[in-house]
Amino acid sequence: MNETKHAVAIDGPSGAGKSSIARAVAARFGYIYVDTGAIYRTVGLAVRRAEQDPHDADAVAALLPGLDIRFDYGPDGSQRMYLNGEDVSGLIRTPEMSMYASAVSAIPAVRAFLLDMQRRTAREHRAVMDGRDIGTVVLPDAGLKIFLTASLEARAKRRLLELNAKGDPSTFDEVLADMRKRDEQDSSRAAAPLKAAEDAVVVDTSDMTLDESVEHICALLRERFGPEATA
Ligand code: C5P
Repeated sequence: MNETKHAVAIDGPSGAGKSSIARAVAARFGYIYVDTGAIYRTVGLAVRRAEQDPHDADAVAALLPGLDIRFDYGPDGSQRMYLNGEDVSGLIRTPEMSMYASAVSAIPAVRAFLLDMQRRTAREHRAVMDGRDIGTVVLPDAGLKIFLTASLEARAKRRLLELNAKGDPSTFDEVLADMRKRDEQDSSRAAAPLKAAEDAVVVDTSDMTLDESVEHICALLRERFGPEATA
């Protein structure tokens, strides 16, 4: 497959439910699910390990040629991230790595470094890809673009439940403050800021359950791709 018209791009702020929804939709239609945030998190981890300031564009850019970042899928379909051959899938899921990812993702050299990997994946597979700039920059030809959003409070509440379930003791106020800061960083940066593509369908999940959101997006997919979408 050489083009990306069959791809589904899902963008939006953190905590809008992108990854859970994208994963479920991908499974339903037999697409692969690509979590691009995990790729930025992996760069963030590399910068942390090199003890560099994630806001220092030159220092971060200098590290990039030495990084081998790959991903594959486990038997349960979950995306696994590798940094120079090491499986770092668990290590990148911390609040600290969220902030590192947000900082490094504002650096144009980092975005350029990861662009080809993302585009290649969408050319080679039918993919539901989630991120911040998939519909605007990475896959401007994606056949379906969704901008998934929800109120800041709803998003913080969901993220808190996720973190606490993993034993992370963060409080609601901490999660809310982190999320507000990331929203600001992600929306105000010059390089590929978080914004809806002009041709994106905006879906607000504040008052939807996960199942309702999944059904809604599956319906959009069937409507857009017709008989090509087989589920
Ligand atoms: O989606 P997730 O919260 O894991 O993403 C971590 C950070 O990576 C985001 O806050 C955002 O700054 C950055 N990101 C990005 N572009 C993407 C995906 C993630 O800038 N396509």
